[in-house]
Amino acid sequence: MNDHGLELTEDYWQAIIQNNAAYDGVFFYAVRTTGIFCRPSCRSRRPNRENVRVFRQGTEAISAGFHACKRCQPDQLQPPRQEWVQGIAALIEQRYAEKLNLEELSQASNLSPFHLQRSFKEIRGCSPTGYLQSIRLRKAAELLRETDKTISRIGIEVGMPNPAYLATLFKKKYGLTPKAYRLHMHSTKKSVR
Ligand SMILES: [Zn+2]
Repeated sequence: MNDHGLELTEDYWQAIIQNNAAYDGVFFYAVRTTGIFCRPSCRSRRPNRENVRVFRQGTEAISAGFHACKRCQPDQLQPPRQEWVQGIAALIEQRYAEKLNLEELSQASNLSPFHLQRSFKEIRGCSPTGYLQSIRLRKAAELLRETDKTISRIGIEVGMPNPAYLATLFKKKYGLTPKAYRLHMHSTKKSVR
């Protein structure tokens, strides 16, 4: 990933100072002093040229630490939502064991909890926290089948340190408590042999 973005050419600079909408989607510009990035057409105050950074994608501006302007909402234009929803899903898959919640996912993605929740659901068919929960339960089932770790240990490893809570959700999904599930899986494994 290129954190340096694009060169601020005269073309781009003219587009910024003229609020030229034809450049929307062609590039995004960020202002170091405000930490905000915009579409070229944004009618926000003209920045000092030396503070401007130019990016091809809104995601690049976000990963360089800039926030989307509330006025021109450059994150609504690009990147394609599928792309960032995929990014959030990947983040959940990597960090499910941590204390993740909607607020933290929202901060990590620079999207409002509302926007994150709605778009994630539209694209993945479930809420981000619902997805997080299903990943945790799937991982717990895997550990119950394949290891001898205690249930409370497994709960900690999958980010559900409360055993009663884990058992309730687990039963809802798999129809068995974690303990019964383990016994069942072990006995079917033996009978197959
Ligand atoms: Zn703006």
